[in-house]
Amino acid sequence: MRRAPPFPAASPGRGRSRRRLSGRPIPWAFVLDELARLYQNGDWRIPYLRAHAEDPFQVLVGTILSQRTRDEATDRAAAQLFARYPSVSALADAPLSEIERLIRPVGFYATKARGIRATAQAIRDRYHGEVPRDLDALLTLPMVGRKTANCTLVFGFLEPAIPVDTHVHRIANRLGAVRTGTPEETEAALRATVPRDLWIPLNPLLVQHGQNTCLPRRPRCERCPLVEVCATGIRWKAQGAHGSGKGRGPLPGAR
Ligand code: SF4
Repeated sequence: MRRAPPFPAASPGRGRSRRRLSGRPIPWAFVLDELARLYQNGDWRIPYLRAHAEDPFQVLVGTILSQRTRDEATDRAAAQLFARYPSVSALADAPLSEIERLIRPVGFYATKARGIRATAQAIRDRYHGEVPRDLDALLTLPMVGRKTANCTLVFGFLEPAIPVDTHVHRIANRLGAVRTGTPEETEAALRATVPRDLWIPLNPLLVQHGQNTCLPRRPRCERCPLVEVCATGIRWKAQGAHGSGKGRGPLPGAR
């Protein structure tokens, strides 16, 4: 494990609400280096997403399908849907009953079928069939909230944005980078404190960390490379739990 660099100095002159939502300074480049080493066997500065960039429309619709749904079900529904209706115009004209049948593996499929067709129609009618490359414009579309809009920017357009899902929200709080109660607050605090050139890899790396190591109920601090820069990990070490097994349960302040 590499030694952590000194914490960066806190930025002066921050506004009141930013001070309240933001936590301690975090060496984000170090965090991303370590997570890329752990999960990608590589360097996040090589824009690996470029090789995985997808059709913005399919990213947008796929993210709507993924809401409150397991990844496997989302993948199955998206594959069935896009095999039949791969484009904005095709989905905008599709019969509702057929969309429902194709996306039945996902939760709330009837609501989502209406929503994704309305989204396709809005893109066709208001944006000449092109997914808008702009956060505010994306947020005007049916069923598109901040996470979906930010995912579309990052994974569809490779635009800097910070999609905050449950993993990003939880880990940012455990690190002590933010002190927030909602994903929206977390996004605002991260946008204010994380350097913009780190925004694109932030979500994919923290999601992998949340799925594999910083688990929702039992963060595995004993095998985490961030333990020296993480507020929760530092507390876990201070409790003398290292190697004793005590640190494997939920920690105070862990969410
Ligand atoms: S040290 Fe523990 S709480 Fe902190 S990021 Fe790692 S696993 Fe999560």
